[in-house]
Amino acid sequence: VVSGARRHVDAVLQELSRRALTDPLTGLHNRRSFLDRVDGEIARSRRRGTDTALLLGDLDHFKQVNDTYGHAEGDGVLERVGAILREEIRDSDTVFRVGGEEFAILLPDTDGSGAHAVAEHLRLAMFQRAGGRCTATMSFGVAVAVRGDDGRTLYIRADAALYTAKASGRNRVALAPSPVAGEPPLGQPGNILPGPTRVPVAL
Ligand code: GH3
Ligand code: MG
Ligand code: MG
Repeated sequence: VVSGARRHVDAVLQELSRRALTDPLTGLHNRRSFLDRVDGEIARSRRRGTDTALLLGDLDHFKQVNDTYGHAEGDGVLERVGAILREEIRDSDTVFRVGGEEFAILLPDTDGSGAHAVAEHLRLAMFQRAGGRCTATMSFGVAVAVRGDDGRTLYIRADAALYTAKASGRNRVALAPSPVAGEPPLGQPGNILPGPTRVPVAL
């Protein structure tokens, strides 16, 4: 009886922990889960001698989607976008919903050019898997952890790159500048890839 009760308590605790780390709308890992995991992933890759990359993806003009179609339909787009991101990445990568319409993708053992390719793949997937009446495109910022980085500083640089992608027209991928002054961004080619104009995404 005691071990039965103990098992029940363990199961309840496990379920509470899962809920605390899960975004209910998309079923993705949430912001708290990201904060729990990012430092450990950076440390693990470092021990293996590989890079850790972070993508931040933010839906473009998403406020317009809500304003045009309503909040419920906007939620539907977010669910769909979450599913596309999850389906298009490798098992070793993790997608998090870190904000309302903002997603982080953590890529262990991935260098700058690899991360750039993943971001470009995800950006294209947004409209290659199209259908439905809403449109949504996504801008991406990409950063690679360098010596001295932790999750917080890596996030700040990916966010700065995301800002660059937004400011230079949206629906595109931008690489964070190298933290070493005067050096090119990690993971060429091309700091910014121009994207096609607004295209439909599935609902
Ligand atoms: P930008 O291209 O600069 O990112 O423009 P934006 O409109 O996407 O950015 P802004 O930050 O101005 O607005 C974000 C919008 O995302 C506003 C808010 O209504 C919407 N949003 C955030 N969280 C949710 C959510 O959980 N559900 C729905 N339906 N909309 C959300
Ligand atoms: Mg947005
Ligand atoms: Mg946003």
